[in-house]
Amino acid sequence: MIKSVIFDLDNTLLDFMKMKSVSINAAVKAMIDVGMDIDKDEAVNEIFTIYDSKGYEHQEVFNEFIIKKISKINYKFLAAAIVEYKKAKEISLNLYPDVIPTLNKLKSMNLNLGIVSDAPSREAWMRLYTLDLHNFFDDVVTFNDTGVYKPAKEPFIKISEKLNANLEECMMIGDWPERDIKGAGQLGMKTAFAKYGSTEDIVDSGADYDLDSLSEIIDIIHQINK
Ligand SMILES: [Mg+2]
Repeated sequence: MIKSVIFDLDNTLLDFMKMKSVSINAAVKAMIDVGMDIDKDEAVNEIFTIYDSKGYEHQEVFNEFIIKKISKINYKFLAAAIVEYKKAKEISLNLYPDVIPTLNKLKSMNLNLGIVSDAPSREAWMRLYTLDLHNFFDDVVTFNDTGVYKPAKEPFIKISEKLNANLEECMMIGDWPERDIKGAGQLGMKTAFAKYGSTEDIVDSGADYDLDSLSEIIDIIHQINK
């Protein structure tokens, strides 16, 4: 019997990688427009490489990129990058199309809904508020609530406790097999892999279910609970 549905946030409910990509492209274009001599595609790749090594919440990415390219900081380039990045981020942060109808349906099935995210609390709540999701969930656990990242057991246990659910009564949905699926599965939660949000070609997610769209979770839970 599933009583609670727990979601990862980035690339599960919202298209984080698309937002990053659109925003980085805007920042690079802005730096070129104000006179920085760089190749656009190369620059975008280099910025993604910095994010890959420092984490996707890294805040100093444009400083590092500029210093790497011209060996010193240039504040005109930096300002252009940051301002255009922020503008693009505002308009390119979107939910996957079936998220709201699916959440409404799950709520109508009397399921408790939660989020467990590795994002810093401030960033996670900014994204939740931007997308008007801040009142949708019975509880939210972000990185700063436990101080450890998935697949550590603490975040999963914390959200299940906050939702008053036994671990085996929880369905965890996430796009990252090593963190979301492994972490929840090892505690006895049911798991669904957000295949639609994964940027990698995962052959075996290790999840109980693979989702091509989020709405598929409705029938899955109906089947389990019938
Ligand atoms: Mg994710």
